[in-house]
Amino acid sequence: MQIVHRIGKTATEEQRLEIERLGVNIPPMGNVSAGFIAFDVSESHESWSDIREWIVRTEASDFVRTEFTKEEIAEARWLALEPEWHHGYPQPHPDDDGYLEVTYDLTDCCEKCRSGRRQKAPFVMKGEPRWGRRGILQLNWVFDEYFATPEVWAAVFEPHGVGSRPVLNNRGAELRTVVQLVIEERVSLRTGDLAFEKCPTCGRVRYLPIVRGPVPPLLTEPSGHIARTTEWFGSGGSSFNLIVVSQVLARAIQSAKVRGAAFKPVAAAGSAVDR
Ligand SMILES: [Zn+2]
Repeated sequence: MQIVHRIGKTATEEQRLEIERLGVNIPPMGNVSAGFIAFDVSESHESWSDIREWIVRTEASDFVRTEFTKEEIAEARWLALEPEWHHGYPQPHPDDDGYLEVTYDLTDCCEKCRSGRRQKAPFVMKGEPRWGRRGILQLNWVFDEYFATPEVWAAVFEPHGVGSRPVLNNRGAELRTVVQLVIEERVSLRTGDLAFEKCPTCGRVRYLPIVRGPVPPLLTEPSGHIARTTEWFGSGGSSFNLIVVSQVLARAIQSAKVRGAAFKPVAAAGSAVDR
């Protein structure tokens, strides 16, 4: 596992030379504004403490992620499913939240943070997704639902007991090349020292997205191969549950070479979660 920082900065010549002298390779940027540099750097870099000092001092943008080895992914009993492709927007009227009322029972939904939504009707998409070679997608803004082609669902998900529900177009007709995965079972995480904020309107706790290390252990094991967390993650007007899958289902997705999603290990219960 490596903690990797993606750094971006419109740098002076001096700042650029300084970071290069610390042993950072800055890839050519092509056609972007003069002086802008961007690079990935791991915390295992031998000059990390000096590089970190440069990042703080120059107020560069810094997006942190964790890269796991194949072995770490293969050894985890449970994995969070991570989107690699966001395609399209939930309909109708995504800009004024029209889809929320159509798709969700909003009885327990907070109008500020949008946690507490419960799906009541099929999702609506503008048209058939342009899948290309991909087989799994997430809609923009809906970070706790996954959609698949009917073929991928039948080959990979259905044999593992995962249900599907139809997706409609704006005229109410069922789309032919996409279904939603039904993810109803809920499990809780040992949230321990996860950073969180409390919504000022509803008082619900929302955890910040996990960028360092694995997902903390599950408190109980799901009975099926896929489940959503009871915890809400996110910030601002976006709240979502994490989706976890069993190692068995993850292997089925990998061996069918389905593109569009990746995996992040869930730590084993009792393990030291290094965060
Ligand atoms: Zn709220």
